[in-house]
Amino acid sequence: MTAETAKPDTQTTQAKPPEEKQTNCLGCNKPIKKLKRYYRNGKFYCNKKCWRKTIASKAKETEAGK
Ligand SMILES: [Zn+2]
Repeated sequence: MTAETAKPDTQTTQAKPPEEKQTNCLGCNKPIKKLKRYYRNGKFYCNKKCWRKTIASKAKETEAGK
């Protein structure tokens, strides 16, 4: 007599999704850790300068389609 107990596969697949947490400044691409974070439009920047730089380059990108 073989009492086979159906063992449920308890394989814990801890497939954690990569955290899409922004850690780099979009302006200078420097990692933002202890830097003073400048939050604009859902993105982080070191400071206002980097923010302006980013929006400026973005504006150029959209303008490039002439
Ligand atoms: Zn920056």
